[in-house]
Amino acid sequence: MNSFEWIDASSVDEASRLLAESTHDRPVIAKAGGMDVLDLMKEGILRPARVVNLRTIQGLDGIQTDASRSLHLGALVTLAQISSDPNVLKHYGALAAAASHAATPQVRNVATLGGNLLQRPRCWYFRHEHFSGEDVAEAVRQGENQYHGIFATEQTPLVHASTPATALVAYDARVQLSSVRGQHTVAISDFLLPPDPGRDRDAALQQGEILTQVTLPALADGTQSAYRKQTERDSYDWPLCDVAVVLRRGSDARVESIAIALGWVAPTPMRATEAEAILLGHRVDEEAARRAARAAVSKAKPLSRNAYKVDVLEAVIRRTILDAATR
Ligand SMILES: Cc1cc2nc3c(=O)[nH]c(=O)nc-3n(C[C@H](O)[C@H](O)[C@H](O)COP(=O)(O)OP(=O)(O)OC[C@H]3O[C@@H](n4cnc5c(N)ncnc54)[C@H](O)[C@@H]3O)c2cc1C
Repeated sequence: MNSFEWIDASSVDEASRLLAESTHDRPVIAKAGGMDVLDLMKEGILRPARVVNLRTIQGLDGIQTDASRSLHLGALVTLAQISSDPNVLKHYGALAAAASHAATPQVRNVATLGGNLLQRPRCWYFRHEHFSGEDVAEAVRQGENQYHGIFATEQTPLVHASTPATALVAYDARVQLSSVRGQHTVAISDFLLPPDPGRDRDAALQQGEILTQVTLPALADGTQSAYRKQTERDSYDWPLCDVAVVLRRGSDARVESIAIALGWVAPTPMRATEAEAILLGHRVDEEAARRAARAAVSKAKPLSRNAYKVDVLEAVIRRTILDAATR
C-alpha cells in the first residue's frame, strides 16, 4: 500500500474543495466508513495521494422525518442505524430489511449509506490489478461469470454491488449532492450508473461533490413493502439477486400502485415494469404473483455460467410479491 496524506474534513465545503483538487497524478479520495476504500487500496486499485475523512463532518449522521412525512437519511448514517431505526422499520420495511441483510454486524456498524451506494463492483476481475478498462468485461464474458448480470449484459455484465440500493429504487428515493458550487438532488435511478472499470466511480457524482443525504418520499397510508436477498449460504454472503416490492392496495384489495426492483441481475437495480403492469389493478394471489414473476424474467439473457440465476430470480420475485401483499 502506498503512503498517503490523511485529512479529517470539518465541513462539506472543505471536503468538496479538497476533492476538487484531485488529479490523475495526485488522486484525492473521500472515505466514509472506509470498508470499500480499504479493500480497493489493499487490492492495488486505489492509490490515493490524499484521503479525505468525511466521518469528522458533523450533521450527516441523522435520520429525520419532515412535516410532509418524507424520510431523510444523512450520508453518514450506518447500515446498522437504518436497520434498527423505529421509523424506518415501521414505514420503510424493505429498506430496513435490505440494510439488515447486507454484510456482517461488524461491517454494518461502520459502513455508511453514502459509501454503500458508491462502493465499486464486487467482481473478481474488476478487483484484480491485472485487469483494467475493457478487459474486465471481456474477462467476465469469457470467464467465471456465475455471479454476474442476466439483463443488459451487452452494456456491461457487471452488476452494482449495493443491496440497499435495490430497496431505494423501489421507494423512488432521491439523492442529495453538495459541493462548494451548491447542492442539487437526483433520482436514485439516475444517480446509479452502470459499472465502468474505466471510470473512478459508478454514479452521477461530479468531482468535488459529496453525497450528503438520501430522501425517501412519504408513503400513502396502507403502503406495504418487502425485501428478499437470495444468497448461496445462510450466513453473511453477497447476493445472487435481491428483490424489493412496494405496493398499495385499495379497499377492494386491488393493487393501486406497485414498484418491483431487482438487484444484482443488471448493471444497476432495475424496475420489473412488465411484472408491475400485470399486477396493477388486480388482486395479488399465488397465480398472479407467479405470472408477474415469469414476465419479469422473460427477457433475461444469461451469460455462459449463470442461467441458474433466472430461475432463482423468478422464485424470489414471486415470494417477495406475496410477502409484500401479506404484510
Ligand atoms: C464481508 C462483506 C460482506 C458485504 N456484503 C454486502 C452486501 O450484502 N450488500 C452491500 O450492499 N454491501 C455489502 N458489503 C459492502 C459494504 O457494505 C460496503 O463496502 C460499505 O457499505 C461501504 O460503505 P463505507 O461507508 O465503508 O464506504 P467507503 O469505503 O468509505 O467509501 C466507498 C466509496 O464511496 C465514496 N464515498 C463514501 N462516502 C461518500 C460521500 N458521502 N460522498 C461522496 N463519496 C463518498 C468513497 O470515496 C469510496 O469511493 C460487504 C462487505 C463485506 C466486507
